[in-house]
Amino acid sequence: MEAMEALANRLRRWLFGRDFAVWYDPRYRLPMASIEARTGFETRRADFAAWFLLERGAVPPGRVRRPAPVGYDDLARVHTAELLEGLERPETMARIYSVDLGDVRPEETMTTVRLACGGTLEAARSCLRPGPRRVARRELNLFGGFHHAGRGTNGGFCAVNDVAVAIAALRNDGFAGRVVVLDLDAHPPDGLADCLRGDGEVWIGSISGSDWGPLPGVDETVLPQRAGDGDYLRVLDALLLRMPAAALAFVLAGGDVLARDPLGKLGLTLAGARERDLRVADALFRVPSVWLPAGGYSPDAWRVLAGTGLALATRARGPVPDKYDPLAQRYSRIAARLTPAELGPPAGEDELLLAELGQRSARPLLLGFYSREGLELALARYGLLSDLGRLGYGPFRVALSNDAVGDRAQLFGRDAGGNEHLLIECVLEKREVAGEPVLYVHWLTLRNPLARFSAQRPRLPDQEVPGLGLAREMSTLFARMAERLGLAGVAFRPAAFHIAYAGRGQLRFVDPRRQGRFEALVRDLGAMPLVAATAAVASGRVLLGGEPYRWEPDEMILWRTPHAEDAAAVASARDSAQFTLGGVARAPPSGGDR
Ligand SMILES: [Zn+2]
Repeated sequence: MEAMEALANRLRRWLFGRDFAVWYDPRYRLPMASIEARTGFETRRADFAAWFLLERGAVPPGRVRRPAPVGYDDLARVHTAELLEGLERPETMARIYSVDLGDVRPEETMTTVRLACGGTLEAARSCLRPGPRRVARRELNLFGGFHHAGRGTNGGFCAVNDVAVAIAALRNDGFAGRVVVLDLDAHPPDGLADCLRGDGEVWIGSISGSDWGPLPGVDETVLPQRAGDGDYLRVLDALLLRMPAAALAFVLAGGDVLARDPLGKLGLTLAGARERDLRVADALFRVPSVWLPAGGYSPDAWRVLAGTGLALATRARGPVPDKYDPLAQRYSRIAARLTPAELGPPAGEDELLLAELGQRSARPLLLGFYSREGLELALARYGLLSDLGRLGYGPFRVALSNDAVGDRAQLFGRDAGGNEHLLIECVLEKREVAGEPVLYVHWLTLRNPLARFSAQRPRLPDQEVPGLGLAREMSTLFARMAERLGLAGVAFRPAAFHIAYAGRGQLRFVDPRRQGRFEALVRDLGAMPLVAATAAVASGRVLLGGEPYRWEPDEMILWRTPHAEDAAAVASARDSAQFTLGGVARAPPSGGDR
């Protein structure tokens, strides 16, 4: 089946996407541990889309290009000196990305921004290169479309304006042709209108879900709130008819048009967003075009971007599968290339000798399998060490030891001043849960000691220092370990509500009645922000049937293969539990093991 799909994609690629190229760099991921929890922005969006398009054969590896960072002279053609100087200050970056001050490393963030701008500029130059083609060249940059940055103002996730910077550089190269900018992000292109005001050969068309007042120089249609696919596509067809002929186009194929998006206010489906991209691609059949993701703050934002890639590469209409987990797919491909000899103990001579003498090696192994060196290699291959490097840590050291209940693994990293910090610690054991052997996680902590708590980033009940934003990577890693060791799943006891909440997509409580009570708690606290909800549970302000509710740290499990569940017991526990919020804070009885 997959071979058939790959073959079909090759054929469609040849028919429709011969000149299609994708610009991408792993450093497109914004180096801010808290941005996802604070804003819903999935920093792995570009990674997920790139991995998906490659894995599905929609884009061959040779068509993925890595950009060079744009120069400050390129930025200075558009932006004021004050704006560019401000980018060196953590306060500016914290404001632009709505994160805490202690979570920003301006230089590393500017690496991401300059690479994305470089991608947009190089894509534009590459599109304009002449060649014997009937279909105009199209290129997709997996990060960019920072349309809220004006000449001297920035904000809303936009530090500088990559599209305006690219157009200014092309003009400087001598390109004088007309440029159209189709801004199909859910928000108005205020920064673009400001930056491009002086260029008489630029036309901007836009469809938005919010009215920010008149934008001079923009053909703007504001749709009513929650407008769906039909209304959107009608307005789009009309806009495409008004669009003038041009020598180059930029398309901001915003991911925040989806109904689920918390900021966009429109009501499109994934299929509607794909249809949008196909209609725009058809209208630009003979116009070279640069495509950009712009905004997107729902868990499906990466699917919009992957869909844009599919529309351009293969004209495909089929959905990005609902159950497709790009991180799990990626990790399983990396795991397949890691050999047991690389992960296990190096056959040192003294160890071979000990083995011959029938003695155990004195060197501790994690779960009787992984060596210190093997774990370090795995963390590097999975990309975790480079993620941590961008947060300000490295070089790294792994330590293994035996704990009373299991094996302890620790990852230490040095900061720029040479001080060593504990970053990741886990205690693991092979144990039976519900009659099957599983990887049991007694303890896991992900620590970012260079960041700090604040009013915007309050301490969660189990936290000593802020987290690393890598919980998804760690649970995916544990699932790979369980598979390699022949275990049926991964189990742990969530010490607080927010931990169970974060895992609720993949993990279930082993006891169906406990699962039902948890679902009732999620239902009844649904209107509260997660941080407030978890604090309310921890402080005893949440009541179950009028009595203070004490968090129950029961076992949750992620089975590797589908397991039947007593759905009736889950539903009956869920429907009979009623959680309310009490007025007075009372400390619940302490206890519960970690
Ligand atoms: Zn937007």
